[in-house]
Amino acid sequence: MNRKLALLFILNFAFLIFSYAQPERWQQSVKYNMNVSLDVTTNIVNGIEKLEYTNNSPDKLNKVYFHLYWNAFQPGSEMDVRSRELGKILVNGKPDWDSRVRDRISKLTPTEIGYQKIKSIKMNGVEQPVIVHGTILEVDLIKDIQPKSKVTFDLVFEAQVPVQIRRSGRDNEEGVRYSMSQWYPKLCEYDYEGWHTEQYVAREFYGVWGDYDVTIKIDRSYKLGGTGVLANATQIGWGYDKPGTPLKSISSAERTWHFTGKNVHDFVWAADPDYEHIVKSVDGVTINVIYKKVDSMEQRWQSVADAAVIVLPYMEKRFGKYAYPQYSFIQGGDGGMEYPMATLIKGPSLGTVFHEWMHSWYQMMLASNENEHPWMDEGYASYAQGEVSAYYNKVMNIESPKPLPLNHAGAYRGYYFLQKSGLAEPMTTNADHYNTNMGYSINAYSKGEMLLEQLGYIVSDSVRDQILLEYYKLWRFKHPNPNDFFKVAQDVSGIQLGWYKEYWLNTIKSIDYKIDSLWADGDITKIRLRRIGEMPMPIDLELTFRDSSREIHYVPMDMMLAGKPAESSETRFVHEPWNWTNPTYVVEFDHPLTQLIKAEIDPTKRMADVNLDNNVLKLNW
Ligand SMILES: [Zn+2]
Repeated sequence: MNRKLALLFILNFAFLIFSYAQPERWQQSVKYNMNVSLDVTTNIVNGIEKLEYTNNSPDKLNKVYFHLYWNAFQPGSEMDVRSRELGKILVNGKPDWDSRVRDRISKLTPTEIGYQKIKSIKMNGVEQPVIVHGTILEVDLIKDIQPKSKVTFDLVFEAQVPVQIRRSGRDNEEGVRYSMSQWYPKLCEYDYEGWHTEQYVAREFYGVWGDYDVTIKIDRSYKLGGTGVLANATQIGWGYDKPGTPLKSISSAERTWHFTGKNVHDFVWAADPDYEHIVKSVDGVTINVIYKKVDSMEQRWQSVADAAVIVLPYMEKRFGKYAYPQYSFIQGGDGGMEYPMATLIKGPSLGTVFHEWMHSWYQMMLASNENEHPWMDEGYASYAQGEVSAYYNKVMNIESPKPLPLNHAGAYRGYYFLQKSGLAEPMTTNADHYNTNMGYSINAYSKGEMLLEQLGYIVSDSVRDQILLEYYKLWRFKHPNPNDFFKVAQDVSGIQLGWYKEYWLNTIKSIDYKIDSLWADGDITKIRLRRIGEMPMPIDLELTFRDSSREIHYVPMDMMLAGKPAESSETRFVHEPWNWTNPTYVVEFDHPLTQLIKAEIDPTKRMADVNLDNNVLKLNW
């Protein structure tokens, strides 16, 4: 063995014997106090919204903005036009529009559209001038809001619940009467980048953390689930007070439901007269499963509640503590959509259940700006979904042979498809501004999921897991951006990762390494590796010999300035780093060539090599 070469490169690990100060990033804060009533015959919501808004920024604010999301559900809206335009693009022979939206908005009648109308808005008791820009309300303040000061807003609004097209609305496919998301005038977020006033074109949300106190008056036959904890549970019954209690009978025609949610950045609710309710508890967290009874599905809804109890301790161990006292899985919406302390899901699919719940970490507690960095939410939630599903299957003994990389092979398949399609765009693209829905969804979900799985390849899986926990600890409730994540990844791993961020996020460059050639040099064997793709990576090269023994030959990449720890009990040799400017690298090892039967680059397949065929060399002596 040529030990001199193998040991030249000295590893430099910085394990978690450090403690970083909590990063400073000011956050605006808000208290919502809403009093609303929903008329179930006209589908009109009337509401009074009182906001206490604290400007923690160093800036004077001369305007504030609100989202009026439901204005998107009107013929000719930006959401309508965008969907119809995407419908003209064919991807795999199919229109690229969201099959739920298509051209449906263009056909809504006046009683079917959605709208949010502001009847009055006062700041500190004084009426303010407003301009409506589609789904954004601009309030031109008569008096500035000073830094570090608090103001109150009083809004009176009327909204019409649209026929369900996307996420929110009435009468979804499963017959849920009201899926109430994006339903109230919602304050836009102001942060170190300024105001975030994206039109509601398709997707992604960003909001101000605060406390919500919401009182909803609705026909007494309706049953509700929502963000927050039911404050008047003893008046309502229906399992909210004690397991198995019926909905209390009352004499008045309408019933009032009172929810409170603390430190959340949105509030969702859903209502239907035929809802059923399962309640469970795990680690001090109350789990509600609220669904419409269909006999063939009953058992599966029960299994959602059972699975939630099984997976929460694992989720907390892997990704950090769940910060809220409750979580509700509510049937509603048009797929699966995440909200604080709740999700609206069409059906009891466990994959969706785990995915939406994991958004509580990446969209509710960390809450990166999803418009700008959709992958930080969708990608990370998808990564966690794969891990949680694998854990659940193991506990339940639902084991089946799995393709590599374990738990994430689907994401890699999608990414390889996108890279070949010619429709790939950089991950830095704003969520609504991708050329195609396919380009958005594979980047946000799959390439984001792979960012973490491939990070395990670069820094080792165990260090990646520590990074995720440290990231959560340092950045929850602070809206982290990509630099913040990569800073934590570098600090925890002791490996320089700026190159990974640049290539993976800012470019669509591919990874492709090959085993180029090999030859004997006396008793030593030499293998030449070649980088064909534009993106450089460190290399795990696994060698298998005639006696079935194996060795890992690890070649770090120069820009890392360090290497990862060994990941298995296999014998490992660490070589000098490969300078990225060099297209080839020769690995030497101390076995006669005739002993070698196989050489393979990254046998775990965590590196996103777009051509796996040239990664393996088999020798039939
Ligand atoms: Zn998601």
